[in-house]
Amino acid sequence: MHDLRDHTSDRHRSVDDVPYGGGPGMVMKAEPLVKAVEHIRATRGVPDAVILLSPQGTRFTQAEAARIAGLGHVILLCGRYEGVDERVRDLLTTTELSVGDYVVSGGELPALLVVDAVGRLVPGVVGDEQSVEDESFVRGLLDYPHYTRPVDVDGRRVPDVLLSGHHGDVRRWRKRAALTRTLERRPELLDHAELDDEERALLHGIMKEKESHERD
Ligand code: SAM
Repeated sequence: MHDLRDHTSDRHRSVDDVPYGGGPGMVMKAEPLVKAVEHIRATRGVPDAVILLSPQGTRFTQAEAARIAGLGHVILLCGRYEGVDERVRDLLTTTELSVGDYVVSGGELPALLVVDAVGRLVPGVVGDEQSVEDESFVRGLLDYPHYTRPVDVDGRRVPDVLLSGHHGDVRRWRKRAALTRTLERRPELLDHAELDDEERALLHGIMKEKESHERD
């Protein structure tokens, strides 16, 4: 983390100022950000990406997290107030990312989301790497439902197949559950999901069943 006030030259160590043209709120000044990035370049080397967190950026996705996880050195720029002076975009930014269609007060929480989502893709961060590979969005599907002990919670039982010890049946049930859940909640994801032959066949069956339910 870098304190932008360390890269100011006035007595008050200002990082924000009033907007040209008037209007409400303050704007983050360009120079402290430019100087901070210059300092990082001089001390840590040239970054592979300089990412500006902004509600106007492209949507941060699992695919983007995977892309960033493959880079060696990344700088995240956080705005506050009305945002950053537009020249920060032109001079420093290689990618502008939004964490969703809503506005929060500063870029710090969005940056932490990026750090967490990217960090858990770095080998060794999550204990069992298979659990990262199976997660929602990784192949364009939502995750299947998970259960742990006890078998019965207020009359709601764990599906029998998960207690059967039959690995093939468990794998198929999970694939089917992930497909059903994605179809119900986020059907548009299926347009780009990477399905194997078994999943394609299962999805075909699920859709046929759905059609016949809708007809009845
Ligand atoms: N005036 C800006 C606008 O309407 O686009 C919003 C500024 S917001 C209050 C202040 C800072 O929070 C932004 O500069 C950005 O760094 C961060 N921020 C707010 N919402 C965000 C989002 N959805 N994704 C990423 N960063 C966000």
